[in-house]
Amino acid sequence: MTETSATLLPSGLQRMIDPFGRTISYLRVSVTDRCDLRCFYCMSEDMTFLPKADLLTLEELDRLCSAFIARGVRKLRLTGGEPLVRRNVMSLVRSLSRHLETGALNELTLTTNGSQLARFAAELKDCGVRRINVSLDTLDPTKFREITRWGDLQKVMAGIDAAQAAGLAVKINAVALKNLNEDEIPSLMEWAHGRGMALTLIEVMPMGDIGLGRADQYLPLSLLRARLASQYTLTDLDDDTGGPARYVRVSETGGKLGFITPMTHNFCESCNRVRITCTGTLHTCLGHEDASDLRKPLRASPNDDLLYAAIDRAIGLKPKGHDFIIDRRHNRPSVNRHMSVTGG
Ligand code: SAM
Ligand code: SF4
Repeated sequence: MTETSATLLPSGLQRMIDPFGRTISYLRVSVTDRCDLRCFYCMSEDMTFLPKADLLTLEELDRLCSAFIARGVRKLRLTGGEPLVRRNVMSLVRSLSRHLETGALNELTLTTNGSQLARFAAELKDCGVRRINVSLDTLDPTKFREITRWGDLQKVMAGIDAAQAAGLAVKINAVALKNLNEDEIPSLMEWAHGRGMALTLIEVMPMGDIGLGRADQYLPLSLLRARLASQYTLTDLDDDTGGPARYVRVSETGGKLGFITPMTHNFCESCNRVRITCTGTLHTCLGHEDASDLRKPLRASPNDDLLYAAIDRAIGLKPKGHDFIIDRRHNRPSVNRHMSVTGG
């Protein structure tokens, strides 16, 4: 491939390539910072949400996503907060699906807590969404309420049923929580695999002040993996998606198990992703305080030149990697943003 064909898109626009040669092809967009749950590792009970006026409109979110797609993004994930609580969010999904039809976008997906999924599953499928991630840390209704502060497990189960009935592939994401769900991981995995769903375990990341100490929650996945390996046969899979997850096949269940280990494994070399918040702030690394405002250039002109210039400046500053530390002495987060603001 020549230098030009590697960096130029068929449209003549430049691909987004950072100073370390990583091509940006994956965008995660937080469409709201609000949520109908309050998972204790993610939010404090009395979270203050952004004034609605600060949020990008759905039309602005569409324009922003479309600009990134024009610059080479092939995979788009909507997240939050809880994406399905944003009013009229399906109109955004519907309008973004035009990029699937043209082939500009390869995948449109979302991460959800599942609580509203029963209502939206069929429409998501109809918009060309093929697979979704549902976050679920326990199958015990009492623990579920404890973790989410007031969530109803039945609703999430109904959401998963509806998604599968609509033909969406579902992956379950579970945060590994010391003393809370650590003993339940084998049964969660057997349940997920029994329903044809992969399970990905996530280490708690020190993001945002949640009014509690992080060290109390942190459970290294290396420990969980070793425990699972004593019960099951785990075979490494090398389907590297450029993401932070490492997958194994579990012989006994036939299912896939993933590990996202930001605290113990450095996955930055192959990082192909950036994130935008619901206010139009671009974060090029989950583990850094770096932030670039895209709302201003977006609103300054109906044409995208200023926006592209701001995107290029930000990509030019994408850090090489992150270094999360759970600061035990001061018990403070290493990144001050909440995951619900950045978009997990
Ligand atoms: N509300 C949706 C949900 O829960 O799936 C989407 C947003 S949520 C912030 C995305 C993912 O981030 C969830 O799987 C959640 O468990 C995870 N998450 C939130 N806070 C986290 C933290 N501090 N460390 C690790 N994962 C976290
Ligand atoms: Fe809401 Fe998702 Fe955060 Fe839980 S993890 S509080 S569901 S945004």
